[in-house]
Amino acid sequence: MTLPYLLLDIDGVLIPFPAADGSTPPTHVRHTVLPTGRRSDDSVPIWLDPSQGRILTDLLTNGIVTPVWCTSWRNDATTIIGPLLGLPDFPYLDLPRPQITTSHPDGYLWKRDHVDVWLADAPAVWIDDDFTSLDHDWAAERTASGTPTLLVQPDPHLGLQPEHLTELRTWVSRILTTHAA
Ligand SMILES: [Mg+2]
Repeated sequence: MTLPYLLLDIDGVLIPFPAADGSTPPTHVRHTVLPTGRRSDDSVPIWLDPSQGRILTDLLTNGIVTPVWCTSWRNDATTIIGPLLGLPDFPYLDLPRPQITTSHPDGYLWKRDHVDVWLADAPAVWIDDDFTSLDHDWAAERTASGTPTLLVQPDPHLGLQPEHLTELRTWVSRILTTHAA
């Protein structure tokens, strides 16, 4: 079978939410970046964990998943975030830009309809901090109909943790073994 896609979010995953006092994890190095479309005097602070860059690079160069950014950073994921983490270059999903005031306008993650069409019947592991129970139902239904689908949902205040990637590796090796048999 084809390799599963790895859909990777950024905010709440690679950039955990700041604590109530504005502090950010000591593991994460602060950077100031200028996302596309912002004025040059309107840069934004971000924070990234260099060790995650190394761990993700190791995962992505192992050839067990096909990575795709799935984030409202869109192309800036490939030009700003990936390079700051030292990640290999990989593509991004050109997500729509709905006029929404919540990330769950229909009770589920706003990215999902686009992802669903884009994936078609490809297996996928999707890491995002913002799934609802309807997204988990969607993944379960895809899996039940023969398209392995894993949602990995970090706590947005903690971001991606080692156990999430362990879960991913275990899941991928299981489906590759199952489908190769
Ligand atoms: Mg997020």
